[in-house]
Amino acid sequence: MNFERPKIVISKCIGFENCRFDGSMIHNHEVEQLKPFVDFMLICPEMEMGLTSPRESLRIIETDGVRRLVLTKSGVDMTEDMKQVTKEAYLTIRAFQPEGFLLKSRSPSCGIKEVRVYESIGKVPCISKKEKGIFSGFMMEHFPDAVFEDEGRISNFNIRENFYTMIFTKADFRMVKTENTIKALTQFHEKNKYLFMAHSQNQLKVLGRIVANHKNLTMDEIYEAYEENLHKLLLKMPTCGQYVNVMLHIFGYFSKMLSEKEKAYFIDSLEDYHNKHIPQSTVMAILWAWVIRFNEEYLIQQTVFEPFPKALIQVTDSGKGL
Ligand code: SF4
Repeated sequence: MNFERPKIVISKCIGFENCRFDGSMIHNHEVEQLKPFVDFMLICPEMEMGLTSPRESLRIIETDGVRRLVLTKSGVDMTEDMKQVTKEAYLTIRAFQPEGFLLKSRSPSCGIKEVRVYESIGKVPCISKKEKGIFSGFMMEHFPDAVFEDEGRISNFNIRENFYTMIFTKADFRMVKTENTIKALTQFHEKNKYLFMAHSQNQLKVLGRIVANHKNLTMDEIYEAYEENLHKLLLKMPTCGQYVNVMLHIFGYFSKMLSEKEKAYFIDSLEDYHNKHIPQSTVMAILWAWVIRFNEEYLIQQTVFEPFPKALIQVTDSGKGL
């Protein structure tokens, strides 16, 4: 399968440059795997402010309800510098039109959640551990349709698979948009039917109604409504039960052509998957074997069998994704 390259803004310290406060960078296996498949835009907001690496670390402090970004030891206020750098970066990033952001976890500049806030500099306990960084918070507000993740969270199998699915689906949709025809949109919708069903059956219906265009919208309005609802759908992580439903739908294509033993084997496997004894990929492999054997053309194109490049699946994942 051919995949469009997602455009991702990434914190430069994740596998690209020694730009962290202590002069190091983060080595991240997932990012190394992504490099051949993704167009990355690198950004280090703290270095953009003119700081060096190594440097004094930064923290967010809150006094009288006002948050500021300060150097941890000296207390020098860098808030306005960061705001300026962020605004400048926004214009460049907007022109890049990213599908997503992959940012450094817990950084007061780049963190998307779990950033600590303190009441002062020095050795004091934090008053919150749930905030966003200054740069990331601005980007999350200004790119509501982009996917945001951090390098810590994508070590989790389900979060990583969902992130990959979202960015590759959105990159594919970007190409469909360039065609701007109902035919291209219908094809996109059809080939993603079972993937979307796994995410949300209700949202799948909403997208179906948009494609049917009973409201006689213009092409631009159709695409706009579809994109907005596609984002909502992708944000809903598939559950085991929703995957079982999809697997049963796909099984329905073959059930009359299979022997009783084959059918029993499949139902047993489905139950094992439901009871978290085997991974989802085992059941999908059985179905895929039948797709090939019976040359079921509608299913051959279905992205649910490969929503992102197979090379991104880690061997160590084989027992996960239950
Ligand atoms: S977390 Fe962000 S600001 Fe800090 S070193 Fe990494 S890229 Fe630079």
